[in-house]
Amino acid sequence: MKDVTPIVIRGELHCYNCGYAAARVEGDRDARGVKIRVLSPLAGPGPRLRPGAAPRCGRCGGRLYLDEIDVVRPDSGLVAPLDELRALLASRRRDGGNSPPSQSGSPA
Ligand SMILES: [Zn+2]
Repeated sequence: MKDVTPIVIRGELHCYNCGYAAARVEGDRDARGVKIRVLSPLAGPGPRLRPGAAPRCGRCGGRLYLDEIDVVRPDSGLVAPLDELRALLASRRRDGGNSPPSQSGSPA
């Protein structure tokens, strides 16, 4: 079996006509192959997707191009449980460190 270095690819789909950032694209490559996901923006129309056709702009229907591509190698040593990350951030806040503004919509 061929040895394949895992990589993560990220980019943005922009419209040739109106410049709208219609979507983000994320992909993984590993030994099993390449998987690509198209993520719609939080606000505004997502891309027009049809099986077998290139994605089109959700705002004007124009052609899209892939821009600002990042290709990175995932580091499996950086994975941490969410509870530990929250505890670490809370301890930094208590210590008077630089705390980011809270924007979480979690119910109190
Ligand atoms: Zn457009």
